[in-house]
Amino acid sequence: MAKAMTISYEVGENLYLNLTNKCPCACTFCIRNHADGAYGSDPLWLEHEPTLDEIIADLNKRKLKKYREIVFCGYGEPTERLDVLLETAAYLRSRENCPRLRINTNGLGDLIHGRSIAKELCYELDTVSISLNAPTEKDYMAVTRPKFDNAFEALQKFTKDCVKAGKAEVIMSVVDVIPPEQIEASRQLAEKLGAHLRVREFDD
Ligand code: SF4
Repeated sequence: MAKAMTISYEVGENLYLNLTNKCPCACTFCIRNHADGAYGSDPLWLEHEPTLDEIIADLNKRKLKKYREIVFCGYGEPTERLDVLLETAAYLRSRENCPRLRINTNGLGDLIHGRSIAKELCYELDTVSISLNAPTEKDYMAVTRPKFDNAFEALQKFTKDCVKAGKAEVIMSVVDVIPPEQIEASRQLAEKLGAHLRVREFDD
């Protein structure tokens, strides 16, 4: 496994941030299972988790205003580093012409931290995109393989709390490899929770 200090990398018109390789899931489709990077990036396995100073130094080398969005994503679950994530977002928001800020999360930050994190996250971000992956608990657990037994329930509560926080746009996502009836059931579940469903293309 190749390692590097790839803190930020470009994906289309967006800039993605890679803060951690920690994640409580082992998704069957996770890109980490068969590559060291994503979308032509340098390896996303980190030599060490970057400090806030390292992240800011990296961001200062970029022309932020050229990006459509800055996305907390990377090779791990960004909320594993909630404090650094929030500090990075606050720093970005203090910069002139800061693009929209989004997180791609598995929605299990409440279980990682043992408390509700929706309010503080939604305060700093413009979009919260939560991986739903499947519309039923049985299918979700089979695909996502989280270390928490109550993950499916927790991600729904997290979604509702984000919607209730009322500031950020809240999206749930599935990958287009699941059958159409599961996509439709996912849409109904997302809408019941107050979120929109986004169907992502599978990228291997
Ligand atoms: S939540 Fe994301 S990083 Fe974690 S295993 Fe699933 S796809 Fe991979």
